[in-house]
Amino acid sequence: MKAKDIRKVLILDQGNPVAGQLLQKATEVFGTDGVQYVMLKAHRTHNLVLAMMDETVREEAPELVLLGATALGEEVAPALGVRLGTGVAAHCVDIKVNEEGRLTCMIPAIGGRAVGEIFIPEAEAGRPAIATVKPGIFPQPEDAAFAEEIPGYKVIDIDTMAADGKLDPGEKVQGGFRMTEIVPRERSAGSITGADIIVCGGYGLGSEGVWRKLEMLAQRLGGAAACTRAALDAEWGCAEDSMIGTSGKAVRPKVYIGFGISGAAHHLCGITGADTIISINNDKDAEVFAASDYKGVFDAEQIIDALLEMTE
Ligand SMILES: Cc1cc2nc3c(=O)[nH]c(=O)nc-3n(C[C@H](O)[C@H](O)[C@H](O)COP(=O)(O)OP(=O)(O)OC[C@H]3O[C@@H](n4cnc5c(N)ncnc54)[C@H](O)[C@@H]3O)c2cc1C
Repeated sequence: MKAKDIRKVLILDQGNPVAGQLLQKATEVFGTDGVQYVMLKAHRTHNLVLAMMDETVREEAPELVLLGATALGEEVAPALGVRLGTGVAAHCVDIKVNEEGRLTCMIPAIGGRAVGEIFIPEAEAGRPAIATVKPGIFPQPEDAAFAEEIPGYKVIDIDTMAADGKLDPGEKVQGGFRMTEIVPRERSAGSITGADIIVCGGYGLGSEGVWRKLEMLAQRLGGAAACTRAALDAEWGCAEDSMIGTSGKAVRPKVYIGFGISGAAHHLCGITGADTIISINNDKDAEVFAASDYKGVFDAEQIIDALLEMTE
């Protein structure tokens, strides 16, 4: 099914892999026949990117604008929505065309217990539609040069715009962002993006002591420790950059082992790229089991202790 009115898609290339992921996904959803793809290369300050997106959208008139939900994308998307008087579907876990040919963004809802469908109106007020997607939610194109094969593909480079005199930062950045403070971010020991083995702890761990054991297990297995939002909020010591999910990271490990995790969509959408998912939960009906390759109905700490003993 083709979307009724999507003829041009604008993607922000911030100089990281998510732009390729978005382009590949968009070509799968909307096709390449009669649909143009415009890649705006703009990796500068937020104010400038916002100004240039605004300018490019007005000039190119795309029906859809896609951005990675990175620090930059998360700030620019809503500000762009306000400038253009349109809405933003933030942290989409999928983008589709429904049976009626309407553009639909899938977003975790009701505390992550469900995935909601956001219909973006086709009326002028709903165009361009703006959507953000976390890096890693969609797979990376195998061949980075695939974009060159798309008939209606073009790249606009912010540096070229500057050289052509189209860029007047002083004037255009007004109404953007102003930095008031820099807060250093707490970083976890092992990065979870790129790790082959991830040991993830949820609220069911129950205490800081068990979280520490889980961290030790991750280290012994040569992997990285990760957490859910609920475990992060419990302040047992998980670092913010080790949280998986819509507002955290999307990961693609060979093995993901989750302990005491209920299986909210907000978390699960970050592990869809894992090769094997193993879950330990003491509730046999936990939702996480439906998304797991292997499940164990056990107490989390008992299994962690047993694995620590085996890996001593
Ligand atoms: C806008 C928004 C964005 C969000 N973004 C994210 C995100 O990026 N990442 C994220 O993770 N969450 C996110 N959330 C929160 C998410 O919806 C869930 O609330 C969260 O993922 C639940 O974490 P949890 O599974 O650790 O905790 P819970 O839902 O409390 O589940 C704990 C589980 O542990 C089990 N358990 C209890 N005791 C034991 C034991 N002794 N042994 C074994 N199992 C046990 C329980 O049966 C239960 O299934 C977001 C929510 C919102 C509204």
